[in-house]
Amino acid sequence: MSTTNGAANGSAVAQESTIDEKLGPKNVPTEEGRKTDELLDRHDRYEFGGPGGVTAMMVGFPMLMYYLWICLWFYDGQIVYPNSVEEVKPFLLQMWEHVRVDASPNLYAWKVYSGLIFYELLLAYFLPGYNQEGLPVPSLGYKTLMYNCNALSCVYTTMVTAAVLHYTQIFRLTEIIDNYGHIMTVAMIWGFGVSFGMYFWTVIRGEQIRMSGNFIYDVFMGAALNPRIGTVDLKMWAEVRIPWVICFFLAVSGACKQYEQYGYVTPNMAFMCLATWLYLNACAKGEECIPQTWDMFHEKWGFMVIFWNFAGVPFTYVYSVVYMASHDPSKYQFSTPTYIALYCTLLTAYYIFDSSMSQKSRFKMQCQGITQYRKTFPQVPWSIVKNPKYIQTAHGNKLLTDGWWAYARKPNYTADWVQSFTWGLVIGTASPIPYFYSVFFITVLIHRCGRDFERCSIKYGKDWERYCEVVKYKFIPGIY
Ligand code: NDP
Repeated sequence: MSTTNGAANGSAVAQESTIDEKLGPKNVPTEEGRKTDELLDRHDRYEFGGPGGVTAMMVGFPMLMYYLWICLWFYDGQIVYPNSVEEVKPFLLQMWEHVRVDASPNLYAWKVYSGLIFYELLLAYFLPGYNQEGLPVPSLGYKTLMYNCNALSCVYTTMVTAAVLHYTQIFRLTEIIDNYGHIMTVAMIWGFGVSFGMYFWTVIRGEQIRMSGNFIYDVFMGAALNPRIGTVDLKMWAEVRIPWVICFFLAVSGACKQYEQYGYVTPNMAFMCLATWLYLNACAKGEECIPQTWDMFHEKWGFMVIFWNFAGVPFTYVYSVVYMASHDPSKYQFSTPTYIALYCTLLTAYYIFDSSMSQKSRFKMQCQGITQYRKTFPQVPWSIVKNPKYIQTAHGNKLLTDGWWAYARKPNYTADWVQSFTWGLVIGTASPIPYFYSVFFITVLIHRCGRDFERCSIKYGKDWERYCEVVKYKFIPGIY
């Protein structure tokens, strides 16, 4: 087996090699690599349309969330709009009335949402977990941070707690979906509060990095890279414990509502319970792989990530559940073969998503000298590529060109997107709004992919070009 190190040979030209699972050389940034990392940790240009673009998003996101919920809840899932200029004012007043009455941040919503946040924080702080070393952080002089990965025990503890609260009637899960609007508003307030609070806290402590100097832009992009409370990495905690937990409980709440109303749960609602559980469980059982993702090692904890975790994901991704909870099952009933096709599509996409993420993360762990992996349920086949092919870069890092990563540069994005599409397909053509997630997500993924490839091309230079020649397609092998 060969482990050719292009950098060590003094060659900037990448070579394809295979790595010994046990004895593989660690990723060590070269002098050149360190200089590039330094450049990447400086603000050099605005993204997302600069201060104007991010302000529009900070105002526009909450408005869009209210609008889509109103259409779904009050207008039979149809897109409503004023038909003439004269109708604009009454239309806006009507919209405001819906928000004022049915989405006010009432005491109940504060108790439910804030209760969950504090409970999740307490669990994360106290429950034992699996210790995982993160990637070397250039801005910390290549120090690695330790992550206490206890999401799995926290998620299952939360599920047991919720079941007890429901059966003892202390807190009926059905109430979550009935109070969607109120809880969504509280979630948004939390999103804004934490974003601004985090910005000031980081700046006061002098821990900010990659700052532009423009206040609103820096609040949007964030100031802190690795904010922590004790052993709890807030960015990683918020990515798993809030959005996907809420999505799952919204689906369970919708199922409880159907059961109370009709005495049964439709296959469509059961599909959403399964889909949200799969996603939540994937994040929790593979939490030790999250420090290897771009959100953790590069993205800062600003409004973009915080608002989306606290409010955006939980209150825009499961619109199909909201629709089903408020409409008769006859509106979204399919034939048995259609249900089989839908479930098979979800499970196949999930499998590719899970195994491809695992292949890359475990490859990166191997490159750090880690060869003992965590065993959580379910470990899908082909999660680890034995003796994988890779490209050694002059930077010092290796790029995987094996497993799913031999066929496309973002197999995980494609599989993830297919899952998001099924979350809309589950109600067929009854309403266009549940497709918001997949439409929004494809835009995010394409934009994110562009940003990521740009960063990689700066980081790896000619080696990235070589990698793109070896792995030609971005998302779908043979097509794009
Ligand atoms: P990736 O997991 O693709 O990570 C990108 C980074 O991985 C690159 O910057 C590069 O970092 C490294 N990399 C890329 N290709 C290779 C390779 N062949 N070999 C080794 N390293 C490589 O993307 P993300 O972190 O953006 O996404 C992770 C998952 O999260 C995706 O499945 C995505 O769909 C999901 N996601 C879901 C969202 C949602 O709302 N549902 C939102 C955002 C993401 P370097 O070389 O510098 O180490």
